[in-house]
Amino acid sequence: MALEGLSAVDAELAELDGELGTYRETLASKKQRLAELDERVQRTQASVDEMERLKSELVHEVRQMSLQVDKSREKIARCRTEREANAVQRELEELRKLFRDRELEVDKLTVLVEQARAEVDVTAAQRAELSNELGSSEGDVAARVVQLERGIAERTAARTSVAQRLPMQLLRRYDMVRKRRGSGLASTTDGTCSGCHMAMPPQQFQLLMRRAQLDSCPHCSRIIYYKPPEPAAELSSDGATSGA
Ligand SMILES: [Zn+2]
Repeated sequence: MALEGLSAVDAELAELDGELGTYRETLASKKQRLAELDERVQRTQASVDEMERLKSELVHEVRQMSLQVDKSREKIARCRTEREANAVQRELEELRKLFRDRELEVDKLTVLVEQARAEVDVTAAQRAELSNELGSSEGDVAARVVQLERGIAERTAARTSVAQRLPMQLLRRYDMVRKRRGSGLASTTDGTCSGCHMAMPPQQFQLLMRRAQLDSCPHCSRIIYYKPPEPAAELSSDGATSGA
């Protein structure tokens, strides 16, 4: 039966499409992750550079202040009056405080730079690992994708030629159910629909069996046909079917 052939091709097509979709999604998500890691390495490295620049400015300031502290101390030694010495002493205290603050800032920055550098290293390692993984599987994935695409093209051509042999209205009915349910054709041997596993009304089943025509499952709307029991199935069913 042409519809059975169509249904079989459609099932294969659905499977191939699914596999191709999974491959493409996996590849796309890995590439996206790679781009994210790239961006993070660059962003973190930029912040390391910026902090280093700030730190070297601060270190320079600390050195200047250290010189100023020395000068103020010499100045005190040269002071003639106590009042004068006190003024320089206050200036010196102020300088020392600023000096300590700058030194603390340098320490903080040193820690932050170390953390950011470690993050750059870890992220760069993750990036390299993923890049290797993508590189080593690239050939296999590409080959499988080509194979899948070829399979899909072949079956699409087969589908077109089978579909041409079917009455337009039947094909339309079949495609409508297939799009909604994933498959458009079902069979029944004992009154149960192979598509939705629900029982057909006994009268409808009797007619289907006798007339050997196509009908629709009243539950899932799949086009349904009667499939006589296979000899092997009859033997293994312990007389259940032979008694019916
Ligand atoms: Zn059904």
